[in-house]
Amino acid sequence: MLLALRSSFSLPLALAFGVSAAVAQGSPQAADATRILASPAFKAAAAQIDKDHERIVEEGIKLTEIPAPPFKEEARAKEYQKMLQAAGLPDVKIDEVGNVLALRKGTHGDGKVVVVSAHLDTVFPPGTDVKVKRQGSKLFAPGVGDDTMSLSVLLGFVRAMQAAGIKTRDDILFVGTVGEEGPGDLRGVRHLFTKGQYQGKIKSFFSIEAGSVAGITNGGVGSKRYRVTFKGPGGHSFGAFGLVNPMFALGHAASEFSRIQVAASPKTTYSIGLIGGGTSVNSIPLDAWMEVDMRSESMPDLKRVEDRMLKIVQEAGEGENFARSTKEGRITVEAKLIGDRPAGTTDVNNALVQSTRAAIEAGGYKVAYQWSSTDSNLPMSLGIPAITIGRSAPEAGGRSHSLDEWVDVEKAPMVKAVTTALSIVLAATGME
Ligand SMILES: [Zn+2]
Repeated sequence: MLLALRSSFSLPLALAFGVSAAVAQGSPQAADATRILASPAFKAAAAQIDKDHERIVEEGIKLTEIPAPPFKEEARAKEYQKMLQAAGLPDVKIDEVGNVLALRKGTHGDGKVVVVSAHLDTVFPPGTDVKVKRQGSKLFAPGVGDDTMSLSVLLGFVRAMQAAGIKTRDDILFVGTVGEEGPGDLRGVRHLFTKGQYQGKIKSFFSIEAGSVAGITNGGVGSKRYRVTFKGPGGHSFGAFGLVNPMFALGHAASEFSRIQVAASPKTTYSIGLIGGGTSVNSIPLDAWMEVDMRSESMPDLKRVEDRMLKIVQEAGEGENFARSTKEGRITVEAKLIGDRPAGTTDVNNALVQSTRAAIEAGGYKVAYQWSSTDSNLPMSLGIPAITIGRSAPEAGGRSHSLDEWVDVEKAPMVKAVTTALSIVLAATGME
């Protein structure tokens, strides 16, 4: 998933608040952002990013052209591991689930890390043509913006920090995550926070996504997805007329589900995205299924819709058993959870948000706070400060999750955005 700040990014999930909270000019964070930007080390890092622009683009293209469908990120991960090593980090691992992890030590040595991540996976299935097409400064390819160019931007960060000899207080763990997109269900970041070697050791988390560097996603939209299957005995549509019919049960459930009332704020939504089942037009079907998507900015609201849906499908099954004959068998209902993304927020007054805001403003952009559904959802739900930030100029990409996805890599605006994104990371990790 990506950030959406401007209308050129078609993403219904991301709502721009467009409102800045208190604290700004004159704050300690603003002073620190100014200090960082004025320092010779940061200027050297910025100069390196400028010099490195074409390489960042080329490596982004190379990674884009290695397919990374959900659950098939391995080839891209291996290449990314090599690239991180070549960028100057000697210790780069691939963990048990396929995340690429590269540690850059800080000076403080408190054993905690700040994670700076981008996701390896794309939404596109195997066989999708991922060859990058160039038109002027625009690159077109599935996944090029969401989120492959961010992986490459992280390489640019590492080279710039190495070239400028930048020291940070905190250890920084650069991560290419697996499983960010829908079916992956955040499995990479879930492993990182709940099982891997850094479990309990991550003090804050950045996800770098497509979208403008001016956007701060500090709200994570939660979601639950189910595949609901109604099963029955089946039979001939004429000869066995009168037997229970799973398709009628499903239709009833769909109709009831469509009537659930939800609040506009916190925004809560639901949909049936897929239905199927049956064998032929002249058979009472053996089964009927639907896939249901429910989302909310609030966990209690999400649970309310989920509970209601689960009740509705059971009642629809029972209703069908009551309405027609069960002499050959009853309708059964199975609701299988196929997606579970926790909701969460990082408070706008949290130090991570405020240092990021100061760095964005020092870079000359106007901050917009957003809700979306990204890797940051997981740490947010655990109460660990986490935000998703962009890495491109405003309006420099779009059509994410479509075959004509694009990014604009025009040098000056891209270098400025990437440099600002680096300053965000350095402000949060205590550049010395
Ligand atoms: Zn994404």
